[in-house]
Amino acid sequence: MNELHNSWDREHLWHPYTSTTDPLPTYMVESAKGAEITLADGTRLIDGMSSWWCVIHGYNNPIINEAAKAQIDKMSHVMFGGFTHHPAVELGKLLLQMAPQTMHNVFYADSGSVAVEVAMKMAVQAAISRTGDHRRTNFVTIRRGYHGDTWNAMSVCDPVTGMHGAFGSALPIRYFAPEPKVGFYDEWDPADFEPMRNLIMEHRDELCAVILEPIVQGAGGMRFYHPQYLRELRKLCNDAGLYLIFDEIATGFWRTGRLFAWEYAGVEPDIMTIGKGLTAGYMTMSAVMTTKEVADTISNGEAGVLMHGPTFMGNPLACAIAIASIKLLQGQDMAARLSRIESIIKEEMAPAWKLSNVADVRVLGSIGVIETKEPVDVGEFQKACVAHGIWVRPFGKNVYIMPPYVISDDQLRYLIRHMIEILKK
Ligand code: PMP
Repeated sequence: MNELHNSWDREHLWHPYTSTTDPLPTYMVESAKGAEITLADGTRLIDGMSSWWCVIHGYNNPIINEAAKAQIDKMSHVMFGGFTHHPAVELGKLLLQMAPQTMHNVFYADSGSVAVEVAMKMAVQAAISRTGDHRRTNFVTIRRGYHGDTWNAMSVCDPVTGMHGAFGSALPIRYFAPEPKVGFYDEWDPADFEPMRNLIMEHRDELCAVILEPIVQGAGGMRFYHPQYLRELRKLCNDAGLYLIFDEIATGFWRTGRLFAWEYAGVEPDIMTIGKGLTAGYMTMSAVMTTKEVADTISNGEAGVLMHGPTFMGNPLACAIAIASIKLLQGQDMAARLSRIESIIKEEMAPAWKLSNVADVRVLGSIGVIETKEPVDVGEFQKACVAHGIWVRPFGKNVYIMPPYVISDDQLRYLIRHMIEILKK
């Protein structure tokens, strides 16, 4: 066990959302391949997390490895100010082919959180430029959302489960509508949208945009809501002159059973963020896409340019990896693949309904969630996972999986059965 709970790491390295004085256990990983992670002592774990949504083609994928090596031999990086390169151009073309039709301009950023910052900056700059009204700088979102850990991203995370408590009045104050209550599979009730309508109508003079995760609220609650909510929201944003931002960082690249989650609603955003699966878990990279109207409005405005330009913007290595990953997706029948994964998750998770500590079981695409009645002890749960040869990291009352798409039927069944076994104890 000592080897797994490395003491130097424990003393010096910060892990995500983890105490330095009483850290949760961490396990030393030696390697990973396909849907399996191998620990330093040889223990093999079937991965249920895709390393937080991103490792869509599995670990150590030979085709992506090859693409990365080929690009390293040309150049790993070159500044994007004043230069461009083939990987950036090719990736941009692929992304715009896959994106909602109205998307026209692509901004490459470093991580999901930074993409959210950029999207919010775009909305503010475009709204001021379009209306000439400097008051129109605030945002509306829905509760139970999650958009990242940087300052503006935090400000639109759920005020209870997000970081608002820790940072208090240091965060900009946003407007929060209640989370949509009508579930993805339920019958639509127009009353679900009324609080959002009232909020926007009351504050429209201060607002530039609405930002939310379409269909699936991820790290803020693992909730799936009704597509009609987005259709109503699109109409209202048009009427009130607000931009609509879809954060597809978690939902993109087939995770929900569609290439992007907006497709379930059939309404397009003005600005869309993508990340995570974009580079299949190989490198940190994200992108923000927007319409020609937004891009041109920003560029014709006071500043004349979008005020953002990170060092690693358009990193060629990340672009080459993203191209290889997208081509892998395009070379397969992903709708059929996701439908297979979804049906196995539904079948194997159904017995969880019988457990006395389970409040809900829900599945969409390759996302399977078992919601418990009481919060789960993450450290204890993960110890049990390692003993069972699986890797699942719950948060709060959500024990959930979103495995790599290369997971075999047997691996997926094993993963879910053992997860339920652990919940029984
Ligand atoms: N938006 C959403 C919807 C996310 O799920 C996440 C990450 N969990 C982010 C933004 C932030 O991405 P990153 O962690 O890459 O900064």
